[in-house]
Amino acid sequence: MKIEQGVALSQMTTVGIGGPARGLARPRTMADLEEALAWADEQRVAVRPIGLGSNLLAADAGVDALVVRLEGELAAVEARGSMLVAGGGASNAVCLHRARGAGLGGFEFACAIPGTAGGGVRMNAGAYGSDWKAILVRALLVDASGARWRTAAELELSYRHSALVPGQVVAQVEFQLIARAGAEIKETVAAMQARRKETQPTNKRTFGSVFKNPDHEFGAGRMIELCGLKGHRVGGATISSRHGNFIENAGGATADQAIALMTEARSRVLDRFGVVLEREVDFLGELELPPVGTPPG
Ligand SMILES: Cc1cc2nc3c(=O)[nH]c(=O)nc-3n(C[C@H](O)[C@H](O)[C@H](O)COP(=O)(O)OP(=O)(O)OC[C@H]3O[C@@H](n4cnc5c(N)ncnc54)[C@H](O)[C@@H]3O)c2cc1C
Repeated sequence: MKIEQGVALSQMTTVGIGGPARGLARPRTMADLEEALAWADEQRVAVRPIGLGSNLLAADAGVDALVVRLEGELAAVEARGSMLVAGGGASNAVCLHRARGAGLGGFEFACAIPGTAGGGVRMNAGAYGSDWKAILVRALLVDASGARWRTAAELELSYRHSALVPGQVVAQVEFQLIARAGAEIKETVAAMQARRKETQPTNKRTFGSVFKNPDHEFGAGRMIELCGLKGHRVGGATISSRHGNFIENAGGATADQAIALMTEARSRVLDRFGVVLEREVDFLGELELPPVGTPPG
C-alpha cells in the first residue's frame, strides 16, 4: 500500500484550507486498508479517516497523522433488496443515484450533504428532518485491532454525534430504505435542492455549518446574523452574507483566520444571547478554539 507524503489537505477539503498530511493512504480494498492501518500502528502514527472533507477545517501546519481516504471497492455502492450497501468512501451523491436507480427512497435528505457514507456515520449527518440514524442498520468499523460490525444503536447516533472514536474507519455501511418511484425521488430532491439554494451559499468554498444549532428559539446562523456578523471578514475568510453559520474561503483563507471568525462569533453570541455555541466542524491537526467563558447565571 503506497503512502503518499506531503499532500496538502487544502486539496482534500471543500473549504480548500490545510497544510500537508504526514501520510496519505488511498486503500481500494479491505486488504489495502488493513495494510495501511498496520503501517500506522507500527510507526505509531495516528490515523485520521477523511471523506470528501466537507466538514473539516485542517491546520495550516498540516497534520501529523496518516490520513486515510477510501476508494475503489471501499467507495462502491449496490442495492440488495431494500438495503443499500455502500463503501465508507462512497459519496452521498452516488448513494442517492444508486438508490433512485433501484427504486429505493429514504436517502433523499442527503442530496445537499456533500460528504460520504462513512463521514455521515461519524457526524450522524442529517437534513430536512432525517439523518443517518433514521436509515443506518449497521456499519463496519476497522482499526489496527481488526474489523467489527456495529449497529446504529451501538454507535449512539444523535444530533451531529456518534460514539466513533478517532482512528476508527467506517469501511462499509448498510442503509435500510423503502420502495419509492424514481420520479417521486427526483421531484423531492429537486425541491430540497431549490430550498438550499435560497438559503445557503451552495457555490462557495465552505465546510458546511460552523456551529451546531443550540437548544434555543434561534439557530446558530440567525444568532450570528443578529450580532451583525454576516459579511465579517478576517483575511481571506468571511462569514457568509447569505447564511451566518457558514464561513467562506473568499481566496487564500487560512485555518487561523477561520478560527478568528469562530472565536469572534462565539464571543458575540455569548454576550448577546448567553449561549455558548458548540462547533459542528471537525478539526484536523493542532487546532483549538479558545475558551469562551460560561453563560451568566
Ligand atoms: C455546502 C455544505 C452543506 C452541508 N450541509 C450539511 C447538512 O445539511 N447536514 C449535515 O449533517 N452536514 C452538512 N454538511 C457537512 C458535511 O457535508 C457532513 O458532515 C458530511 O457527513 C461529512 O462527510 P465527509 O465524508 O465529507 O466527512 P469529512 O468532512 O471528510 O470528515 C468529517 C469527520 O468524519 C470522519 N470520517 C470521514 N470519513 C470517515 C470514515 N470512512 N470512517 C470514519 N470516520 C470518517 C473524519 O475523520 C472527520 O472526523 C455540509 C457541508 C457543506 C460544505
